Amino acid sequence: MRLPIIAANWKMNTNIEQAVGLVEEMRDGLDKIEKVEKVLCPPFISLAAVRELIADSSIKLGAQNMHFEEKGAYTGEISPLMVKDLCEYIILGHSERRQYFGETDEMINKKVKAALRAGLKPILCIGEKLEENEQGKTAEVVTRQIKAALAEVVSPLGLVIAYEPVWAIGTGKAASGEGANTTIGFIRRIIAQLYSEEIAQAICIQYGGSVTSANVADFIGQPEIDGALVGGASLKAEEFIGIVEQTAAAKG
Ligand code: PEP
Repeated sequence: MRLPIIAANWKMNTNIEQAVGLVEEMRDGLDKIEKVEKVLCPPFISLAAVRELIADSSIKLGAQNMHFEEKGAYTGEISPLMVKDLCEYIILGHSERRQYFGETDEMINKKVKAALRAGLKPILCIGEKLEENEQGKTAEVVTRQIKAALAEVVSPLGLVIAYEPVWAIGTGKAASGEGANTTIGFIRRIIAQLYSEEIAQAICIQYGGSVTSANVADFIGQPEIDGALVGGASLKAEEFIGIVEQTAAAKG
């Protein structure tokens, strides 16, 4: 049985005071929910404060990006070892990083390898753009992204995959539960081909894209979907707790 994972991607939102306030609002509600891995990914500047607040809880911490080098002259960057000082998880290859910061499949592969080397659990984001979806290229795109991201990765155990169709992120237009389940089942078969059926069955694959407490049941009720990566709705305490509660009820 895979443990479902619900991760909150706060993106470039909240200053330290707001992040602390949000954690204080959701901590107790989240902490008591069992059989779901709960991960908060605030902006870098709030990681230390959030870590302190969740230290005695069942909530885990993640960062939203990192460089692939361990250290050096990379002004403005954060290394895997620095992230590891504070976090267990790291979001990699988010479509916003690919779109606005020129992250390529090759860079994402370097980051995945560096994260695993550092003992971090990458949440690897993949997904097709709207025009690719309309052209029926979803399978082709996710196959390319997965194979590229995992090149030279001997074992992907510890890795989480987030299938996030780009057209569904922040648009309010979520995929259908059935559609996401089909693509995630397809991604699992790619993992089985690259590694083994056993590894494919052990890897958590989330859905991401406009998940709310009103639609999470459509996704979490599907057999292939092991949780969600949540953007906008994770900035509202009640909403996020509702998403995690429903996941526990459906998968627990
Ligand atoms: C995301 O940022 O990964 C995401 C899925 O955002 P939203 O839930 O707002 O669509």
